[in-house]
Amino acid sequence: MDQTTKNSATKNYATNFKSIRDQVSPEEWQTRLNLAACYRLVDKYDMADLIYNHITARIPGSKDHLLINLYGLLYKEITASSLVKIDVEGNILWKPDTDYDINKSGYVIHGAIHKARPEVSCVLHTHTRAGMAVSAMKCGLLPMSQTSIRFVGHIGYHEYEGPAVDLDERVRIVQDLGPHDALIMRNHGLLSCGPTIEQAFNTMYQLELSCRSQVDSMAARTELTMPGENVLAHTAHLYQPGTRRPYGVLEWPAMLRRLEADGSGGYPPYWN
Ligand SMILES: [Zn+2]
Repeated sequence: MDQTTKNSATKNYATNFKSIRDQVSPEEWQTRLNLAACYRLVDKYDMADLIYNHITARIPGSKDHLLINLYGLLYKEITASSLVKIDVEGNILWKPDTDYDINKSGYVIHGAIHKARPEVSCVLHTHTRAGMAVSAMKCGLLPMSQTSIRFVGHIGYHEYEGPAVDLDERVRIVQDLGPHDALIMRNHGLLSCGPTIEQAFNTMYQLELSCRSQVDSMAARTELTMPGENVLAHTAHLYQPGTRRPYGVLEWPAMLRRLEADGSGGYPPYWN
């Protein structure tokens, strides 16, 4: 029994979830592995915010069944078998034996996008320092580097409406995201989505790096140079999934190798 379990005598907050690999379809298990790895990578690249935020993934071949984290776990504690299965409305279909639950209000943003964009398998939302900083800048995301130029014409902006996400706001989030895979939520944070977990993670990584470099450049208080308008659209086009290759797919096995090589720092491995 670990320290946390002992200290909360009335609640089962143990994090040693037993493997359900033999109880789910191969497709569901693969989605669980990739989603758990994605949570770990978001933590590894310093994009986690305590126990908050969510990454959701659709189980291929299922009737809109999604996987989401238990509310209360660190991203680096999340394992394949700890993920909760929900329907697109956020109703729980399966969860491990635990007193942790899901954060239904936090799921609302994800649910809206999963419902409106059937081709989207994964939705990722963060509250990073650089993401929040850029989200508050009137100029928005600047096309100041090759990394950020990919978002020119391929990113939406959603105005802040307060923390309570009502049905009306869901419609506006979907409208503001449009056909894109990236959204800056003003005064709030970042969102990415994609046809696979691998691609949604890569898009978030590139968006976060764009925000970090923009904050650094603006803090340097020196005049910045921007690429000419003539190269922006062409460059952005070259980074779209259908143009050369879907970014994130080739990278994924390397990401998994990194997780494996770095170890899990005393937490259960993500593939549990
Ligand atoms: Zn948020």
